[in-house]
Amino acid sequence: MTTGALLLRGAVLADGTRADVTVRDGLIASIDRPGPPAPDAPAQVEDLSGCLLLPAPVEIHAHLDKALTADRVANPAGDLLGAVGAWLAYRPGRDREDIAATARAALRAYVGNGVTALRTHVDLGTDIGLRGLEALLELREEAAGLCRLQLVAFAANPLTGVAGAANRALLRDALAAGADAVGACPGLDADPAECVEICLELAADHGVAVDLHVDEWLRPEPCTLALLADAVLATGFPYGVVASHCVSLGAMEPDRAAAIARRVAAAGIAVAALPQTNLYLQGRDHDRSVPRGITALSVLRAAGVTVAAGGDNLQDPFNCLGRADPLETAALLVLAGHDTPQLAYDAVSAAARAAAGLPPVALRPGDPADLLAVRAANLREALSTASAERVVVHAGRVVARTEVHRTFTDLPAQTGTPA
Ligand SMILES: [Zn+2]
Repeated sequence: MTTGALLLRGAVLADGTRADVTVRDGLIASIDRPGPPAPDAPAQVEDLSGCLLLPAPVEIHAHLDKALTADRVANPAGDLLGAVGAWLAYRPGRDREDIAATARAALRAYVGNGVTALRTHVDLGTDIGLRGLEALLELREEAAGLCRLQLVAFAANPLTGVAGAANRALLRDALAAGADAVGACPGLDADPAECVEICLELAADHGVAVDLHVDEWLRPEPCTLALLADAVLATGFPYGVVASHCVSLGAMEPDRAAAIARRVAAAGIAVAALPQTNLYLQGRDHDRSVPRGITALSVLRAAGVTVAAGGDNLQDPFNCLGRADPLETAALLVLAGHDTPQLAYDAVSAAARAAAGLPPVALRPGDPADLLAVRAANLREALSTASAERVVVHAGRVVARTEVHRTFTDLPAQTGTPA
C-alpha cells in the first residue's frame, strides 16, 4: 500500500486523450496533458501507459456471507428454490470465523478488480442470529482502507404478522449493531405491502437506506416494485431506496412497465439489475427461447430511473461462477441486456455510486480519487478483454496492483500484452 500524493502518469481517458492525473489528500487535484513532471509533482509515480483510467466501479449488490461456497453447497436443480433450500440447510453450521474468512477472500477479489465501495446483504435468521453480521462488521472495519463496505441487514421471511416477530427483532438488533441498510424480500412475504411498510419504518427510525430483493421471477405478476414505489411516494422516505432484481418489470407489457417506471422515478428509487444470478437461476423450466432474467433497462432509463448493476452471488449455490469483477457484469449488460459499453459501465460505476448514496467520481478535479486503471485502449476493449492487469486507487492510495506476464513459447518474449 502507498500513501501521500500520487502522480498517475500517461493513462488514456474515456475520451481517448492521454493525461497525467495528480492525486492529493484523497482527491483528484489536477488532470494535465502528459509532460515532464512539474517541480512540485508528487514523488510517487504510477506509470499507467497503455491503461485506460476510469472512475472505480462500485459493487452495488453482493452476498459476501455466501461467497465462495460453491464447492461446499451443491444446487443440482440450479434454480432459485434449489439454491435457497441448499443454503438454508448449510448455513447453521458455519461459525463467525469461517464466514469472515470467505468474505475476506471474496472482498480482496473484488478490490483487486477495481471495486472501492461494495454493498453486501448479510443474512439474518433465527438459525444463525447475527453471526454473519458480526463477521462482516469486523470486516468493514478491518478493510476500511481498501474498500468502503455497506452492510444491508437482510431479514429472513416472514417479516410480518405473529410469525415474523423474531425476524423483526433480529432486524432491529442488526440496525442497533451498526448495519447500514434494511433488506428483505417483500415478494416472498405473506403480506408484501406490510413487509415494505415495516422496512421503511425501521429504516426511517434508524436513518438508514432500504435495499430490497424485488420481483425475482420471470412473470409479470405479482409486481412488488409498483407497491414499493407507492409506499415510498406516500411516506416520503428520505434515506434512499434500491430495488434489486426487478425481473418482472422486464417480463410485462411495455406500456405498463413504463407507467410503473415513472412511479419508480418519481419515488427516487434506484433499480439494480443483477444479470449473473438471474441468468444462472432463471428460465430453467423453459425448453426453448429461454428468457433473459434482466429488468427493463431502457424503459427504466427512459423514465429517469437510476439503473445500476451488480454481480450478486459469487461462486455459491445461487451462481456457481463469477469472478468478482464489475467488468463481467457490464459485459453481460451488453450481451444479454443490449446496453452500449458506455451505458453498461455507467451502471456499475456512476449509477451504482448514486444508488449507494456515494459522492460522484467523474474524473474531475475535486472528485474523490477512487479510480481503476485497466490495460485497454478504450472502454469497449476493456469490457472485451477484462484484462487482469489493473491498478486500483481508493481514497487517493494505490490499494491493489495486478501485473500480467505472458510469453509464447515459439515467439520472443513480450511483456505487457493484453491478458
Ligand atoms: Zn441478492
